[in-house]
Formats: sequence, C-alpha cells, structure tokens
Amino acid sequence: MLIKHIQETIGHTPLFELPIQTPNQVHIFAKLEMFNPGGSIKDRLGEYMLQDAERRGLLTANTTIIEPTAGNTGIGVALAAQARHLPVILVVPEHFSAEKQTLMKALGAKLVNTPSDQGIVGAIKKAEQLAASIPDSFVPMQFNNPANPGTYYHTLGPEITQDLHEPIAAFVAGAGSGGTFAGVAAYLKAEDPHTQVIAVEPEGSILNGGPAHPHRIEGIGVEFIPPFFKHLPIDQTLTISDDAAFEQVRNIAQHAGLFIGSSSGAALAASLQLAQSLPAHSNIVTIFPDSAERYLSENIYD
Ligand code: PMP
Repeated sequence: MLIKHIQETIGHTPLFELPIQTPNQVHIFAKLEMFNPGGSIKDRLGEYMLQDAERRGLLTANTTIIEPTAGNTGIGVALAAQARHLPVILVVPEHFSAEKQTLMKALGAKLVNTPSDQGIVGAIKKAEQLAASIPDSFVPMQFNNPANPGTYYHTLGPEITQDLHEPIAAFVAGAGSGGTFAGVAAYLKAEDPHTQVIAVEPEGSILNGGPAHPHRIEGIGVEFIPPFFKHLPIDQTLTISDDAAFEQVRNIAQHAGLFIGSSSGAALAASLQLAQSLPAHSNIVTIFPDSAERYLSENIYD
C-alpha cells in the first residue's frame, strides 16, 4: 500500500478472534486499535474532531489547538494538528505514562502538566484557562464534543459489522470520555437491538456508584458521568480490578502474541466475566484501545 499522508493509515484495524479458552466457548473478537499510526484508538478522534472543526469554520491557518487528555487523545490531536501545520498545547495530569508524554512532544506538541490529585477535571479547567488567555485558540474538548461519539459511530461501528457477518450477542468496551462506547454502542444497537452493550470501568471509577480513588488501569475510568451516556440504553456496567486487568494483559502476551494496554486487559476481563452468562458459542466484540509498549516504564508485565 502506497500512501502520501500518515492519516491514510487511521482506522480499518484488524478484528482479531482471540485464540484463548473462554467460558461457554464464547467467541471474543477484539478490534486492534494499537495498529493506528499514533498507536491508539484516539487517532481516529483527533482527525475527526479537527475535520469537524474545519467544516464548522472554527479553525484559521494559525489556530492554537488546546486539549485536556490522558495522553492518547493528545497523540491523536497532535497528529491531526501537525498535518494542518497548527500549534498544539496538550494539558495532561502528571501521572499519565511517560511514554505517552514523550510521544506527544515528539509530534511537536507543547505539554502542560496538571497535578495528579486534581484528576482530569483539573486538566479540563487548565485547558479552559489557557484558551481564555490565548487568542485564536480552539479546544476540541473530547469530554463534551458530540464529534467524539460521532467518530466511533461513523468509523468503528461500521467496521465491526463489515468484518463480522454474524449476530453480536454483546459489545464490551471501556469508558474514559465515553466516546468510544457511546458511538459504537449506538451504532450496534441500531443495527441489532438484541446486542447487549456493556460498559467497563476500573475500580475507583464512579459509573457503578463506587467511591472514586486512583487506579493503575490507564485510559478508562470516569470522575463524572459522560454526557454521551444520557440517552444510551446501557445494559450493564462491569467494574474491573487492577489485578484482573493486568492478569489479562499478561495472558494475551503469552497466548495470543499481542501486547495490550491495561484498558484492553480490563475489557478482556469483563468479556470473560460476561461470557459466563451468555449462551454457548455466542459472539462478544470488544476493543483493545492501545498497546503495552507505552506502559513498559510502569512495569506492565510485572
Ligand atoms: N483506553 C485507552 C488506553 C485510552 O487512552 C482511552 C481514552 N482515554 C480509552 C480506553 C477510553 O476511550 P473513551 O475516551 O472513548 O471512553
């Protein structure tokens, strides 16, 4: 495949039928989003949000793009901004992985760190303050931009049904901003109302009403209910421990030849739990948002 822009390699990732033992011989299919050029599912989002802003006339030739992010959205936004020769400032709580922060800088983004104990809400506030003080700036704001679920409704959802021509008993995906889950869940429910849609969060996230506390799983977990979940018929939310997620990170490296990040491990742990209550040979589709390689400094395989 000859390409002229790295953006041409965003999307159309493989859907992998996992070669692992499952309860009830359920088939688990994982969308391998680490194959995007910036290494995560969020490359789709960066490109889509800037295309959307262009369509709405919100960008000039010099607009500074500012975005609060746990890292992967920052990499995706930095890729999209670089293609348009626009400056980028990414606001990242300081505890997120060093690898992701290095990659954002490598793409030319300027990083502003906020204190870990202020969470993503602290980064959102800081991004808004910066935008107020920088003329001709634009904050895509993944946490309430309808283009976020729109990205996944229009790309990832259709890719799944194009790849798998069989009924999908359940769609299982982690929630951070909630964009991936909301977009794909809405698409799959519209295609087949029998598909159950199952959100995944780490212990320490509040979707199931649990107390908020720090967790090792990176990229998912919410401090507020994502606005995209408002009119979404979510069948169930599964809360996964750090230990259960990291066990699956190791399991998949050993049995499927794949390096997955901890949010992928959580999605797989939830899929295996759900498989226990599904009819034999049902199909589960899940998402592996990124790779273990951007968490090696956090001893992801220990
Ligand atoms: N996994 C990883 C590794 C991520 O970086 C993100 C985005 N923060 C997610 C899952 C969750 O995606 P979303 O924001 O669409 O809920």
